[in-house]
Amino acid sequence: MKKHPYLFSIDLEDIRFRMPNGNSFSERVPETTISYLDWLRRNQYKCTFFTVGDVARAYPDLIRQIIAEGHEIGAHTNTHLPVCKMTEEEFESDINNNLQSLYKAGAENVVGFRAPYFSLTKDVPWAYDVLKRTGFTYSSSVFPASNPFYGWKGFGQEIKRLDSGMIEFPMSIKTYGPLKLAFSGGIYFRTLPKFVINSNFNTFKNKEIPLTGYFHPYDIDTKQEKFMHPEINDNPFFNWLINFNRKNVFSRLDAILEKGFYIDTYKNFLSDHERP
Ligand SMILES: [Zn+2]
Repeated sequence: MKKHPYLFSIDLEDIRFRMPNGNSFSERVPETTISYLDWLRRNQYKCTFFTVGDVARAYPDLIRQIIAEGHEIGAHTNTHLPVCKMTEEEFESDINNNLQSLYKAGAENVVGFRAPYFSLTKDVPWAYDVLKRTGFTYSSSVFPASNPFYGWKGFGQEIKRLDSGMIEFPMSIKTYGPLKLAFSGGIYFRTLPKFVINSNFNTFKNKEIPLTGYFHPYDIDTKQEKFMHPEINDNPFFNWLINFNRKNVFSRLDAILEKGFYIDTYKNFLSDHERP
């Protein structure tokens, strides 16, 4: 059976760093990241870890372990600010700080970027120029539809080479009327019914494009203390969702792999598919 690519990736961030009282909660990122590494090793796949600068500074040993196991390190900004909330100069300085921390922790040749909250939108087209001149070749930062946060309506689902020369891998989404679901990662992957997830993955088998996936350390964390997640405006329903069904992420992922999908780093995928 020919397998279809699933660009499963981790947004490596510690939500405690975005909370005023974050230090009062236990450190969970090393253990959850190692659970992802164990699962990837068992399945013999490599993936991309888009890493925030403050995480690389806090956990350099963890970054070294990710690299030693053959995974790709990408950038995810220095302190997890939305790209569209920065000026061009601020973004360039932020990215340089992010890169410096990744290189100091042992990363080499970082070429991939993911915007926090998929906040690369049509309002900040200069972001690709910044990425190009700071050494990146690709980004996976666009939610290609309108959504309550930072979508880019009309971008399309295809991988695109932009005027700057940068390549963008937009999120995989499924449209149900007004609903646009990024079903292949994070909170959508955990909360939608399993049959919806599986049937949407199957529809991508007929397409020429890979599925993209994004997960966080907290997506599998069942031991974290209960607290109001930052950045959800104290909404109890969203907080309930953000904690929902974390225990079944790996079994859902196993089911996807059994259906004929393989995982790879973005960098490998690009070098395998780049046309001369
Ligand atoms: Zn993030």
